[in-house]
Amino acid sequence: MSMATEHTITHKDAVAERSPYYARRVELFEKYQARQKDAVEAARAANAPLTVKLPQCDNKTYTEAVRGVTCPIDVAKAVDKSLVTTSVVAEVDGQEWDLLRPLNGDCTLKFYSFQDREGKDAFWHSSAHVLGMALELELGADLTIGPPIEEGFYYDCSLQGRNLMEGELDPLKKSMEKAIKAKHRFERCEVNRTEALDMFKENKFKVELIENLPEDAAISCYRCGPMVDLCSGPHLPNTGYLKAASVTQASRSHWRADVTKDALTRVYAITFPSKDELKDYEHRIAEAKKRDHRVVGPAQELIMFHGLSPGCAFWLPNGTRIYNTLVDYIREQYWTHEYTEVITPNIFNLELWKISGHADHYLENMFLTDVEKQQFGLKPMNCPSHCLMFGSRKRSYRELPMRLADFGVLHRNEFSGALSGLTRVRRFQQDDAHIFCREDQISAEVGNFLSMLKEVYATFGLDYELALSTRPESFLGEIEQWDRAEAALEKTLNDSGVEWSLNPGDGAFYGPKIDIAVFDALRRRFQCATVQLDFQLPIRFGLKYDNEEGGTSRPVIVHRAILGSVERMFAILTEHYAGKWPFWLSPRQVMIVPVSDKNVEYANEVRRELRKHKFHVQVNATDNKMQKKVREAQLDQFNYILVVGQEEMDAKTVNVRTRDNQVHGQRTISELCAVLSLEREKRVRDCMFATEEGEAVASAAKSSIVAASVVEAQGGPAAAVQMALQMLEAAQAKLVEAKKLVAEANHAAAPEEAPKTLAVDEPQPSGSKADGKKKKGGPPSAEEIAARQAAKQAEIEKKLIKDVTKEGGKKGVEIEGAADMGGLEFFCTTMEKPDGELKFLKMSMEAMNEVPDPDGEERRGGSGHVGKMIFSAGMEALAMVAYVPKDKQDRINATEWLKSVCADAGVKGEIQAGGDAGLATAVAKANPDAGMFTIKMKDAAMAHGFSYLRERGCFPEDTGDDDDDDGDYVYGDDDFPS
Ligand SMILES: [Zn+2]
Ligand SMILES: [Zn+2]
Repeated sequence: MSMATEHTITHKDAVAERSPYYARRVELFEKYQARQKDAVEAARAANAPLTVKLPQCDNKTYTEAVRGVTCPIDVAKAVDKSLVTTSVVAEVDGQEWDLLRPLNGDCTLKFYSFQDREGKDAFWHSSAHVLGMALELELGADLTIGPPIEEGFYYDCSLQGRNLMEGELDPLKKSMEKAIKAKHRFERCEVNRTEALDMFKENKFKVELIENLPEDAAISCYRCGPMVDLCSGPHLPNTGYLKAASVTQASRSHWRADVTKDALTRVYAITFPSKDELKDYEHRIAEAKKRDHRVVGPAQELIMFHGLSPGCAFWLPNGTRIYNTLVDYIREQYWTHEYTEVITPNIFNLELWKISGHADHYLENMFLTDVEKQQFGLKPMNCPSHCLMFGSRKRSYRELPMRLADFGVLHRNEFSGALSGLTRVRRFQQDDAHIFCREDQISAEVGNFLSMLKEVYATFGLDYELALSTRPESFLGEIEQWDRAEAALEKTLNDSGVEWSLNPGDGAFYGPKIDIAVFDALRRRFQCATVQLDFQLPIRFGLKYDNEEGGTSRPVIVHRAILGSVERMFAILTEHYAGKWPFWLSPRQVMIVPVSDKNVEYANEVRRELRKHKFHVQVNATDNKMQKKVREAQLDQFNYILVVGQEEMDAKTVNVRTRDNQVHGQRTISELCAVLSLEREKRVRDCMFATEEGEAVASAAKSSIVAASVVEAQGGPAAAVQMALQMLEAAQAKLVEAKKLVAEANHAAAPEEAPKTLAVDEPQPSGSKADGKKKKGGPPSAEEIAARQAAKQAEIEKKLIKDVTKEGGKKGVEIEGAADMGGLEFFCTTMEKPDGELKFLKMSMEAMNEVPDPDGEERRGGSGHVGKMIFSAGMEALAMVAYVPKDKQDRINATEWLKSVCADAGVKGEIQAGGDAGLATAVAKANPDAGMFTIKMKDAAMAHGFSYLRERGCFPEDTGDDDDDDGDYVYGDDDFPS
């Protein structure tokens, strides 16, 4: 058929042409199904009992079943109604089975829900029939195969050369939805080979599939509405189980994945048992697109590719920083776990690959070259060179375990069409190491590896699962050695305290292994780490060591890696963090923003100081406005932005804010360095300002710059942090002591006692006032003490009010600025100065809302139009004030907001509603014994303050990575309203 004639046929023509074929299939199906119905009736009459074992229901046995009549769903109805609602498919003696297919004999019966892999596969496989139906009814397609995949399913079909346009996917979805509404049953019927060939004779692909089945195979087909398909099943009871469907994309494919065979159209779709699950999925897909490392990597100038070296990443300066930090982190682990690093050649004579076995099985994946008429190859893995090292001289048992680590560059010749970003590359490095050990050391070595793995993945915030893969059918070596090694691995896994599963028969032919699957923030599954035992390589390389008994033994090799390839882990982390690198990994840690030209020199001075502490820091000395520079730095994902103006210059400080626009106020350079060092050292994901530990280190650093810098010079940032924490503890102890002394002093001078006693024992002469005011020369009277205390108190208060008003006024300006820039209408923030006292926090709020004085020295307040909740954590209490201006009260009620925040955040506060609906206050007392610390309470409350707003559409959605950073709102993100 020529292209020209093919294109003259429309989808509609094709549907019309094939309709008789579709109808004939249904007719034949009904005919063959009739004999089956007769069989069921006969079975019902025979009423032969059968016993069903139910391992999922406390090993119950069900004896009411009738052979050839009772279906799994009948059993579910009888034993446990909840199984009826959750199950999508059954398993009978290990074979998957329709819920509506009669049981033929005594059996063990299991049920699977959509949550199980088996359930998902049956669910999506059934859905593929529905998609197939749509392809037939809408396009007149010839169906080939339609399997379930990791997420969703596809159907490959032939459109006889017609194209499928993007806009034609929607009718397919509508057609599927129609079929779902109709609740078509999936009916099963067994046919013989001749009948099957006859039924599908118009579809050459199905004919080929049938012809390839073994002569005696039982062939089943399934009907679902107007569609009959060749299929072994099992399926859902009916199409009504699919509550939500989405046809996602179409692409090209070939029959039997062979480019010389028919060109096919592949249509992908996905379905779920609920609409919410589809929504979740769509959200995840959109999120994944945004996070794609092939987008983020070049956008952040981390990596680039060039056609002159396909599959080999160019690591740009900022990407290299991350790459090296990852490698350094693993090096640090190696130091702790006593691995030693080696460096080995990249190119080897083919003789090596003959010994290692790569020449037989792996040659086509290697880059080969001729050197002086001999064949050489670039190494695709490090193990053989480590074997050469081990075998280079006599080894003693005392040298074992020998742990050789190698970050060597590896090359694998991937097909150019398969190359994709950093996940399929030709050039990469691994955190590769080989442990040469005695058999009895396997358990300890693997245990050691698992603990390293746990720490590294916890740092990254990646969850993982472990599975033990045991001896496959075709294996090499002694069976006893396998058994011992598998027992050792099992023990190690049990000791690790992490849950694990078993993959029987899934080991490599040369040894058992532990499979490690990691999950990123979008719950996508990857494999990066491996730990694999190898009994064969030591034999191939003739490796041995002198054992304790005076003889020689063969070592076992453990291949292991945690990152896997650094390239791939980098890609996963980019997507996991959505490009928002945690401080320790971040290539752009600090941006300094001078307010004007006059502050540039000071900004450079700060930069030099930070560079001394090895931070990646830049100065933005362009003429742009301060706000613009801050926003740019936030978009560029600088973790910290330091604004420096006249005030900061005079005070030798910087004004700290994060990329999420959390403002942490004026800080001295030593405070800043202390907190940043701590954050880097601890490799945490969140900013450490405003955390208990961060602030402890900051205030200690502030009060003891000299001491800390001396320690730092000697012991590095770790020692400085340690020292700072110690000093803080001492300071806190002193404070408690001082408070006690004051309390005692007050008690000693307590004014109430004396007059009271006087009043009781010694009635006052009339005319004389009951006071000692006029006494001369004696100790001060109670009134005098009280007056002095009051005066002092008033002075302290005056100073505090001044401070609180100043802080509030400045925050007001910032919030107003943010509101102007980004359309901010509601906000939550922390105030330092009120120190947990509600009275003063209310003044902060007033100062924030004050109408700015145009003649004032400094701009103050001005954020009265923004709804706010502010927090102040003191030693003893957390104070909270919520304020909502009149014109926003129909959207947020201050009292409700505060109430909800206290309830959700578990903060036990006394809530007071203000005179109008726009103001509410609360105080929550700390209770350290119950684990209630004011800073912790504040963080929780603030996070809930934001999520309350988000839920009501009063604050931009968090586009950040995942659930664990609830309060981590994205100010600088693109999604911020502008
Ligand atoms: Zn099927
Ligand atoms: Zn290896």
